[in-house]
Amino acid sequence: MLPCSFLQSNWAVYLGGYNPLPAVFAGMTATMSNVEEIKARLAIEDIVSESGVQLRRAGKNLSGFCPFHSNTRTPSFVVFPESGTWRCFGQCNEGGDVFKYVMKKEGLDFTEALRRLADRAGVQLRPQSPMEQAAKEQHGRLREALDAAVRFYQAQLQTPAGTQVLSYLRGRNLTDETIAAFELGYAPEALEPLAAAIQQAGFTLDEMMEAGLLSQSDDGRRFARFRHRLMFPIRDANGKMAGFGARALRDEATPKYLNSAQGPLFDKGNLLYGMDKARKHIRTQDEAVLVEGYMDVIALHQAGFPNAVSPMGTALGGQQLRTLKRLTTRIVLALDADAAGDKATLRGLEVARKSLDREADPVFDARGLLRHEGRLQADIRVTALPDGKDPDEIVAADPEAWPKLLLAARPIVEHVMYSLAAGKDLQDAKIKRELATQVLPLIADVPSPVERDSYTQKLARLLQVDERSLMAERPARATAPRRRAQPTAPSLPEARPMPSIEDSTVRLESHCMGIIIRQPELLYRVDRSLLESGLPRLSISDFEHSDHQEMFRLSREALDQDVQEPYSYALQNLPMPLLDRAEEILLRTEKLDPEDDKVFEDLLRTFLLLRRRLLRKSNEQMRYLQQTAQQEGDLKASEYQQVMIQNTLTLQRLDKALATSPKRSVPRAL
Ligand SMILES: [Zn+2]
Repeated sequence: MLPCSFLQSNWAVYLGGYNPLPAVFAGMTATMSNVEEIKARLAIEDIVSESGVQLRRAGKNLSGFCPFHSNTRTPSFVVFPESGTWRCFGQCNEGGDVFKYVMKKEGLDFTEALRRLADRAGVQLRPQSPMEQAAKEQHGRLREALDAAVRFYQAQLQTPAGTQVLSYLRGRNLTDETIAAFELGYAPEALEPLAAAIQQAGFTLDEMMEAGLLSQSDDGRRFARFRHRLMFPIRDANGKMAGFGARALRDEATPKYLNSAQGPLFDKGNLLYGMDKARKHIRTQDEAVLVEGYMDVIALHQAGFPNAVSPMGTALGGQQLRTLKRLTTRIVLALDADAAGDKATLRGLEVARKSLDREADPVFDARGLLRHEGRLQADIRVTALPDGKDPDEIVAADPEAWPKLLLAARPIVEHVMYSLAAGKDLQDAKIKRELATQVLPLIADVPSPVERDSYTQKLARLLQVDERSLMAERPARATAPRRRAQPTAPSLPEARPMPSIEDSTVRLESHCMGIIIRQPELLYRVDRSLLESGLPRLSISDFEHSDHQEMFRLSREALDQDVQEPYSYALQNLPMPLLDRAEEILLRTEKLDPEDDKVFEDLLRTFLLLRRRLLRKSNEQMRYLQQTAQQEGDLKASEYQQVMIQNTLTLQRLDKALATSPKRSVPRAL
C-alpha cells in the first residue's frame, strides 16, 4: 500500500521549498535531493585527502593506503572521482560514497554525516516540515479520540440500554474478563452522550468526524456513525486503535456489521481482528487460524485458542497474509461450511496462492530467519466447520473438538476438490469434465511436482477416471488459465526503447531501491536466485551510494521485525533528509508493479549488472596493484592474482546468470 497522501503532501512541500538553481533548470533540478546536491558540490577526493589519506593518481582514479585497515605497503584504497565513490579492495572490501566515508572515518550515523557535509557544502537541509509534523500529531490525536470512544462505549454497558447487550454477551458464554479484555461496548442511538464524553476528553466534533465516529447527511447534519450497536474495538498489531466493528442489535438494521470508514487509521486490507492479542501466540504456536467473525475470535481466545484472527468479513487479502507470514507459515482457514463460506474460501484461496506460493516463494519466519528450502513453502489449509456451526458454538459445546477440526484441515487443492464434488453426481461424464476443468488449473499452479502428482492422483480417484487422461488435460504451469485471468497487466507501462547511453550506477541503484522499498520481501526472492547461480546474497556493498545503502539496510531491517508492514517501517525509519530522495525514487517507480514477474526479472538483472560493474572495477584495480607490486618485487603480487582469479570466477557465474535472464522488458523510470 502506498500512503499516497503522505507522499504527495511531502512532494508539494519540497517543490515549493529551497531551490538554489536558476529557474530555467527548475523543471529538471527541482527533484534533486539534499543528498544529491551535497554530492554534486563536494569532490570525494578532497574529503578523503583532507582526512589525512595521501592519494596518488592512477589513471582516471586515485589510490592510496586504506585508512580503515592497517597497512603501509598496499595502496588498495581507490577513489573514483567520476562516480564520487571509493572502495578498499584489500582487507575491508568495502566502499561507498562521500557519506559512507565520513560515517566510517568519524564514526557518525547517516544523519550526522549528512549534517556535517551539508554544512561543508553550504546546503541547507530541509527540516521536518510543519505539515509532516502536523500529520503525525494528528494521527496520534485521532487514536486518542478513538481510545476515548472505546471507554465511552464500554461504560455504556452499564446503562439500562447497555445491560441488554451485556446479557446478550453473557448469553453467548463470554465471561466478564473476556468482555473487558476485548473492550466490548455499546453504542447508544443518540449522538449527544458520545459527543459530550469525547468533547470532555478534549476532542472537537471535527476530530470525531475525522476519526470516523460521526457521519454527515447531505444537509450537513452530523450523527453518530454507530447507533444501537455492539461495539468491537479494532486495534492494529501493535495494539493501537484503528477503528471499530459494530454489530446491529436490531434484526432489521442493515448492514448487520458496520466498520469504521476507510481512513488514515482504518485500512481494512491491512488489519486482522484480534491480531494485537494473537500475534504472540501465532508465533509461539507457529500456526495462525483464520475465522470469519469477531465473536469467533473472542470465543476461541476465551476457550484457550488465542492464535485466532479474523479478516473481518472480507476475502483474505494479500497484505493480511503477508502480515501473518511474518509470524508463521502455517495458516488454517476455519470457515463456515455453508455455500457462502465456501465461496469466501475459494475467493480467499486465489489470493492465498498468489501472495504466498508465488510471488514470495522464499518464505521466512517472523523473526526474519531464513528457513531451509523445505520449510519455505507456506502451508495453507482449510477446514470446513460442521453443520453450519460457528467456532464459538463448537468450543462452547466441546473445547476438545476444536483442535481435532484443525487437524482435519486439508491442503487448499484437496479442499477445493472435495467442496466442488460435494453433492454432485460423479457418475455423470459432463460433471466429471467440469470438475476437472476447475481443479486442474489449481493443481498446475502448485510449485512442487510431487504435490502436483499427488493431487492429480487424488482427483483421478475421486472422479474415477484414468490418471493419464487427467494428465492430458492438465494445463501447462506457466499458462494456467487462472493466471491469465489475473488483471495485473494494465499497471505495467508499455515497453519502450531505452536511450542508448549507459545507465549510471545511481540510476540502476535507485531503480532497484524503488522496487525494494515498496516490497522488501522481494529481497528473499533475489537472494534465492543469486544463491542458485552460485553467487552470494545481496548486501550493502552491492550499492555504492549511501542513500541507497541506507534504504537497503532499512529494508532488510524492516523484514526482521514484525511490528509494522515492512514498507511503512522502512519509510518511517528513514532519516528525515533521505525522505525526499525516497519519495522521488518511489514516485518514479510507481508504475512498476512489484508483483509482476517481469519487474522481478528486471530487478534481478539490474542487480547482476551492478555487481558485474563492481567486479570489473575490482579487477582493474587488482591488475594495477599487481603490476606495481611486481615492479617492486613484492610478494603480494600473487595475492592480487588470487583475488583476480576469484573475481573472474564470480564474473563467469554472473555472465551465466545474465545470459539466462530475460532481456530487459521493463522500462526504467529513472
Ligand atoms: Zn581497507
